[in-house]
Amino acid sequence: MSNQEKTLFCGIDIGSSATKMVILNDQKEILDVEVIPQGVGGRATDIIFQRILQRNPSFVHYKMLRVATGYGRLQCDDVCFQRSEITCHAKGVIHLIPEARTIIDIGGQDAKVIQLSAKGNIEAFVMNDKCSAGTGRFLDVMSQVLCLDITQMGDADAKADKVIPISSTCTVFAESEVISSLSHAEKPENIIAGIHASVAAKVASLAKRTTIKEQVVLTGGVAQNQGILRALSQELNRPILLPPMPQFTGALGAAIYAIESVKA
Ligand code: ADP
Repeated sequence: MSNQEKTLFCGIDIGSSATKMVILNDQKEILDVEVIPQGVGGRATDIIFQRILQRNPSFVHYKMLRVATGYGRLQCDDVCFQRSEITCHAKGVIHLIPEARTIIDIGGQDAKVIQLSAKGNIEAFVMNDKCSAGTGRFLDVMSQVLCLDITQMGDADAKADKVIPISSTCTVFAESEVISSLSHAEKPENIIAGIHASVAAKVASLAKRTTIKEQVVLTGGVAQNQGILRALSQELNRPILLPPMPQFTGALGAAIYAIESVKA
């Protein structure tokens, strides 16, 4: 085995709400992934790494080239280099869906829209990180009010027979509206459809600050919620593609940068 074959490539995405890791071999094949719902400031990277080593004991024999991205990337000093989340999301998405031209990433505390050229270069991006409406945080708060796990929101949305609209854009006031709807015995699934419509409207208005070009791809932890995918597709009036493992595209992009750093 050559030295090159004995290297593995690790992308670490330390977000505001979750830490993600992707391990690739030099053929860009995904060997393992892990996520912990704990973001910047904790010990999530060490815990994830231990879990991956427990599942793959042979990895200790490999050199591991690590690249960090995400909001908390600078807290990670045991890496070769850091890359911004915008460049890493673009890299990861283009690898999975080469025809992507617009990436909408909805994370724990921000939403971003990235425009790509036909060659996959970043042409523009806009970001909302000032307000939790239109982010995972808004959905996390609402799922707690509804006593539902965040992973159940998409399935509940699919059962809605009407949408109970939410008029407040502020998370605190929107929470009061949801509590009021529950007290009026509205069906939780219809309230959830309204919550998703509210997030979709907020994210769509961010996306409309750019020129939306197809194919549009949705990434981030929130992309796992089928209700958001449906509501956003309706709001933008166009199809939206979902990559496999949409929460990992930033970590995947970082791992690809690690590979490219040795092949450059
Ligand atoms: P960040 O990079 O900002 O930390 P992520 O892209 O990892 O954020 O997304 C975190 C958000 O994803 C959480 O706020 C949570 O609402 C949402 N999320 C995580 N897992 C799921 C899931 N299985 N279904 C729906 N939403 C999820």
